Amino acid sequence: MRVIRSVKSLQRLIQKAKARSQRIGFVPTMGALHDGHASLMRRCRQDNPLAVVSIFVNPKQFGPKEDFRKYPRMEEADRILAKKAGVDILFCPSENEMYPDDHLTYIDVEKITKPLCGRSRPGHFRGVATVVGKLLNMVMPDVLYLGQKDAQQALIIKRMIHDLNFPVQVKVCPIVRDADGLALSSRNRYLTEKQRREAVILYQSLREAKKRILEGERRAVKITGMIRSRVTRNISGRIDYVECVDAETLESLTRAGGKVMIALAVHFGKTRLIDNMIVNLR
Ligand code: AMP
Repeated sequence: MRVIRSVKSLQRLIQKAKARSQRIGFVPTMGALHDGHASLMRRCRQDNPLAVVSIFVNPKQFGPKEDFRKYPRMEEADRILAKKAGVDILFCPSENEMYPDDHLTYIDVEKITKPLCGRSRPGHFRGVATVVGKLLNMVMPDVLYLGQKDAQQALIIKRMIHDLNFPVQVKVCPIVRDADGLALSSRNRYLTEKQRREAVILYQSLREAKKRILEGERRAVKITGMIRSRVTRNISGRIDYVECVDAETLESLTRAGGKVMIALAVHFGKTRLIDNMIVNLR
């Protein structure tokens, strides 16, 4: 596995791969890698002769009061995990390499960036779209691997790729969970033992919501209300949002129908966790 830090060296390697007509798969990450990331890397490895992963904690997607400075950075452990997953190129650029002082250009996807996480994290998805757009131009992959864990992010990136004609295919991979159901996240390591025990309620209440929908409940207020009361009863955390939305447009639903996504975000102290579940009624 090659660890590359400059855009120039990366592009040299990419040009060589392109000259050999090697199919390139790409997994963008912010590091603090866990088995959710590894599942994307393994899939990328299986599908493509050249597997590229980036690790970059993107300052442009953090709000002024968010955890950019504190975000876990552990390059050594990440290198070991990526190597084990079969990654060929690990791209770890510095902040200055990605955003030299003269950077002025941003990618702004409209509408679907506004609900859910967009409401409490203004500017977040502009930062995400910009960095992924830049990385796609650097890596020029044939296939981009994203996680369903960040469902809104995956939809926004797909929309950007479609609207701006990036020549790349997107694969969205399933959420990898801990044994008790908590979705793996780099931020889980911030949780205290008590918060970690409580956090399982997110998955449990999503599962219960799915069950109720499959049993015939269609009223979104009933579904989200059930989740809200279960969550508030069981944890010391604070709910950011619980919503039933259309899984493709992210429009809020009053009645469950079609492909439904139940999505939530909950604060445990300073740690904000998100999760979601799809119920396909088509
Ligand atoms: P991050 O490092 O959090 O920016 O995540 C990098 C990629 O890994 C994104 O496409 C995430 O959706 C994906 N990812 C993160 N956690 C998980 C998980 N538990 N299961 C599947 N994919 C995940």
